[in-house]
Order: sequence, then structure tokens, then C-alpha cells
Amino acid sequence: MAPEAKRTYATRASRLPPVPSTPPSDLASSSPPPLKRKRSFLEDSSVQNSPTPSSKKLRKSLTSLGKVKDAQKSKTSGPESTKKQRKLTQLHFSLDVTVLRTCERCDLSYTKGAPDDESLHRKHCARVQRGLEWGREEEREALKANIEELATGVKLKDGSKGRMICFRPDVGGKIGAKLTLLLETMSLALSSPPLSPAVLKQCKIYCFLLPTTSTTSLTPREKIVGCVIAQRISTAMAIATDADVAARTSTPAPGSTAPARRPLHTLIPVDTSTNLYVHPAPLPTPMGIPRLFVSSVHRRMGIAAHLLTAAANSFILGCPLDPTKGEIAFTQPTGAGKAVLEAWGKGGVRIYEEEQGR
Ligand SMILES: [Zn+2]
Repeated sequence: MAPEAKRTYATRASRLPPVPSTPPSDLASSSPPPLKRKRSFLEDSSVQNSPTPSSKKLRKSLTSLGKVKDAQKSKTSGPESTKKQRKLTQLHFSLDVTVLRTCERCDLSYTKGAPDDESLHRKHCARVQRGLEWGREEEREALKANIEELATGVKLKDGSKGRMICFRPDVGGKIGAKLTLLLETMSLALSSPPLSPAVLKQCKIYCFLLPTTSTTSLTPREKIVGCVIAQRISTAMAIATDADVAARTSTPAPGSTAPARRPLHTLIPVDTSTNLYVHPAPLPTPMGIPRLFVSSVHRRMGIAAHLLTAAANSFILGCPLDPTKGEIAFTQPTGAGKAVLEAWGKGGVRIYEEEQGR
């Protein structure tokens, strides 16, 4: 038994990354790159029917919150290691089967019964649903931190009114800490890797603040209920129209045994599940949106559109951008993101890769 157990353990150890805080998405690969990005759709241009990577559950674990202490713990309780542990149960008597739960509200997987995991999940879940606190401490630093107030009294579809602010990512202090938490929350909620420091440097952060109705507090408080990150880019690709996509596949006559699809290589598939294709030609495009987030109870109120319009109008000083003219691009969008970009951009928005220009 002993040599066998030893060998298995060594195999397991060698597959673990050296740094405990490495997000679990990196655990999946044997030689993790320094920073795992969203899978590039350009790399997949040969794959005609590539499904969107479904590593959601691996990514959405609490270790992504970047807490080293918890990340160390998650070596024995994280979703990926659980998988490995299950394979090893006959050799390791001490490994209990952990109870992984996936929350229906925030889609996060966490270990049921582990107090730290449960507490981290509770906090994350509340942020995903209702947004992040924007309190007096943040407000006190707003002037010093050059927080720009873009609009006040912005009316939402339910009649409530909020305001929009904008700031640079290098903001420090309380607001900087809040931004870090906001970025972590967005990464987990969107199943996206963190923005690299190089990309973040080219960005501006746009937030929608909504007053919260609290019965316990007399001072008015606000929450960040939406965030759009805008990035300076150089080129992006135009989204193929339905007609373009239809032209690339031939529809067989009823009863015909001809293959339903005839591959053409003029379009790049971005998300085949939503029939999203792009034309490969890189077109000059000034602004990209790498991340877009609205807390779940505040969706369908127009917050994303307000933030996107504010970003388009103010991103480049004195030069408002028009999404319908192809001046704004999104990174590989998810299903929900596609709906927003279609509604807001009216077919004119483009697609780009956030790591360009480095
Ligand atoms: Zn949850």
C-alpha cells in the first residue's frame, strides 16, 4: 500500500500549482500560464462548432476571491481538488467527501458546512444580487480621488433615480479597495478572468449608484448597482449580420441528404450557441468594453444602457462615440451580454480581444 499511496500523492502534488492563491481555473491545466485569459476565439477559428467553455463551476469557486488563507484551505475543499480527492479516496482515509453546493442565485460553488466558505459565499451572493456598498467613507474620498460625477437624477424604468460616476483604475484608498472588491465580484459573476494590470491601466471605470432605502440608517446610503469598464483599444471586428451567417451555410432542400452545413472561412465564430460570428478584418475602433455588470435585482431597468451611453460620451474628452457607427466594441460576450449589446448598439457594435495592443 505504502509505495502506491506515495506515488499517487506525488502525482497529485505535482499537479498542484506552486502558489496557493492561483485561481482554480489554472488548476485544470498542467502548466498554467501566468494569467489565464478568456479563451481567445481567434484561436478557435478552425473549430466550427466549439461550445462556450463550460468550466463555469471550476472558475466560480471561492478561491477566486483571492484570499490566500482561504485558497490554502481550498486545496482540500475546492471543487477541482475535490474531484481529485474522489479519485484518491481508496488511498487517503482522511479525505471526506465535501458537500459542494452551487447557489441558484449567484451560481457560485462553495462547500456546504464550511463556515469560511459559507460566509464568503453569503457576502458574494449579496453583492451579486444587490450591489456593493458605496458609503460615507468612499464619498469622503471622492473629491481627493478625482471621482467624476457624470450625471445625477438618472431615472430608471421603475421610477427610482440614481447617479453615475467615473474614475481611473489607479485610484487608491477606500475607493481603490472598493474597486478591487468590485472587480473580484464581477470576475466571479461573469466567470471571467481578472483584467490584467496592463489592460486595467488603459481603462476607465463607470459606476451607477442607487440610493438604498434603509429603515435602520438616517444617513442616505448608496450602492454600486452597475459597472461598465471601458478600455482604449485600436481595432475590433464587425459582427456578421444574419444574412452573412445565412450565406455561409447552405440550407438543404426538405428531404435532402446533403450536409446541412458548408464551412466557409470568411467568418470567425465567436459564440455558435447564439449564432455570433465576426468578419476577421481588424477595423479601427477607439473604445472597448471588457466588462459589464449589473446586480441581479437591478437588471432590466436600463442601467447598462445608461452606463454604456455615459462611457461612449465621456471616454474620449470632446469626442462622443457612436456605437451604431462601429466606434465601440465588446469582448467575447456571453448570452446576456449579447442581448445588451444588440439592444444598445443596434447591430453596430464590434467584437475585440481585450489583450490587444500589448
Ligand atoms: Zn449565492
